[in-house]
Amino acid sequence: MKITLLQGDITKMETDAIVNAANSSLLGGGGVDGAIHRAGGPAILEECRKIRDRQGRCAPGEAVITTAGRLPAKYVIHTVGPVWNKGSEEEKALLRTAYMNSLQLAAKHDVQTIAFPNISTGVYRFPKQVAAEIAVAAVTDFLKNDNKISNVIFVCFEKENYDIYTQLLSQQGPL
Ligand code: ADP
Repeated sequence: MKITLLQGDITKMETDAIVNAANSSLLGGGGVDGAIHRAGGPAILEECRKIRDRQGRCAPGEAVITTAGRLPAKYVIHTVGPVWNKGSEEEKALLRTAYMNSLQLAAKHDVQTIAFPNISTGVYRFPKQVAAEIAVAAVTDFLKNDNKISNVIFVCFEKENYDIYTQLLSQQGPL
């Protein structure tokens, strides 16, 4: 199985990369972002600061890569999901772009296993079902054209998301 699902804390994942649902400042925040910086230690923030000094804020849909500090993963890929305001097509497209750019950056760094949180479904307010459909479609489409990444794991913190993904992935045939 190239796409797998589990419920838990993404900071514990021993994958090559974990993805962070960052904000544009790249300087940390609440939710999964806070958890990653707390568990990973200051090395992650230090690198984020350098990236920010070099290239400015990170726009929604973009992704950057840093060390994972003390985390068991090798890298953290920080991507900025869109905020759900009106539920416009643009907002939905940006969420797909966030997944795609994260996967592209991962492949570029020879990442084989990568874990995603449910980007934009916390304080950024995307409806969970809509976000999950976009996430599964993006990852599925990416994997069809990539043979470097061997496993993508959706790590759901909340049972509600876990149930939505279980349902969605059960409808999917093998890749
Ligand atoms: P966003 O600003 O993109 O909405 P949040 O961090 O507020 O980001 O929420 C994104 C998702 O991350 C939510 O579904 C939330 O439940 C989940 N989350 C929070 N902490 C963790 C964690 N330690 N591991 C995995 N997912 C987490």
